[in-house]
Amino acid sequence: MKIVADTGKCVGAGQCVRTAPELFDQAEGDGLVVVLNPEPEDALLPAVGEAVDLCPGRALSLLR
Ligand code: SF4
Repeated sequence: MKIVADTGKCVGAGQCVRTAPELFDQAEGDGLVVVLNPEPEDALLPAVGEAVDLCPGRALSLLR
């Protein structure tokens, strides 16, 4: 699986970081999402799915 983040849609709310801090961070300054691990192992699928669902900007996508 592959995580794609559209920083044009990210509003810097940080739900993804709180949901899966091993996968996401926020940039210093503008707070936009930084994907730490864009191709995580399948065991992390539930956390990725939750982060995608919770993102208020609909900025995260999961490709399989
Ligand atoms: S939850 Fe969505 S809008 Fe918020 S920082 Fe993460 S990607 Fe950006």
